[in-house]
Amino acid sequence: MDESYIDLRSDTVTKPTPAMREAMASADVGDDVYGEDPTVNRLQEMVASILGKEAALFVPSGVMANQIALKVHTQPGDEVIAESGSHIFNYETAAAAFISNVQIHTIEGKRGVLTADQIPGAVRSSVYYNPKTRLICLENTHNRAGGTIYPIEEIKRISGLARSMEISTHLDGARLWNAWMATGIHPKEYGQWFDSVSVCFSKGLGAPVGSAIAGSREFVDKARKVRKILGGGMRQAGILAAAGIYALQNNVERLRDDHQKARSFAEQLNSLPGFAIDMETVQTNIVIIDIAKTGKTPGEIIAGLRALHVLLSEMTHTTIRAVMHLGVSKAEVAKAVEVIKSSRS
Ligand SMILES: *Cc1c(COP(=O)(O)O)cnc(C)c1O
Repeated sequence: MDESYIDLRSDTVTKPTPAMREAMASADVGDDVYGEDPTVNRLQEMVASILGKEAALFVPSGVMANQIALKVHTQPGDEVIAESGSHIFNYETAAAAFISNVQIHTIEGKRGVLTADQIPGAVRSSVYYNPKTRLICLENTHNRAGGTIYPIEEIKRISGLARSMEISTHLDGARLWNAWMATGIHPKEYGQWFDSVSVCFSKGLGAPVGSAIAGSREFVDKARKVRKILGGGMRQAGILAAAGIYALQNNVERLRDDHQKARSFAEQLNSLPGFAIDMETVQTNIVIIDIAKTGKTPGEIIAGLRALHVLLSEMTHTTIRAVMHLGVSKAEVAKAVEVIKSSRS
């Protein structure tokens, strides 16, 4: 999108800054399929350490990170428990069925959060005609619920239950960095309750490409094989990993600015006629606006704003989404608020 647009569709629209490009251009590289890319190895060690895991693997996308985890943790015909608004269930083109031949058993959470007492009812008994419940996936922060944060106490309870029932756990931590900055709870504290954790560098952290999947050494050895099967074995990927390293070193703290922008944006638009925002969901960098009472569809509202050079995205048939990121300044967010207000009057 050209610079005249204020692009709030997603934090994935961020472009690498000159300093990040500089880090990429000067990265030391080697053939990562041989395990010889020093920059990829360094990023993997950094991520494993931040998440408190034995090892991590650099992968092209967050979807691949999640789907590798599903493949490693499950057997065909198994069942995976996930929240009904989860990314794994809604936005990964049914990859769980396509790649791992598993079925997802959804449970509806409150603002994306499941409680431990919802889990036992969803776990299948061992009678032979039931699928086997093999994995529980949680998402922190929760995208579709509006960037909501999983309470660590609930994670702890769910993880304890899962371990007692020998069910594996995976955290979709595409925006775990946002949860960290919003709560002060370190990724390691979240990570300890899961067998595997995926993270993205390409969202709020501003890298052009890249995610990682972390777990035990045994898990990552299996993950490396699945990554290769999926066509994700990359060669001189250090150019991309350098952006991830730069992002971890420079762009984590600043996520707090995005959270402030989201709060200010939401507070100003919440009172607009026809707009409704559940302010309790505005915990990080995402704002979901329910536009049902405008009498218009999300597509109509979005097209109207696009003509005024403000870009938002469609979330559900009654909601639209705005996401704050390093590519939009406070002034641009204020401008977007003015444009949206004037479009509604
Ligand atoms: C963006 C995202 C992913 C990964 O998606 P990609 O399109 O592969 O970047 C996974 N989980 C959540 C919650 C996300 O928001």
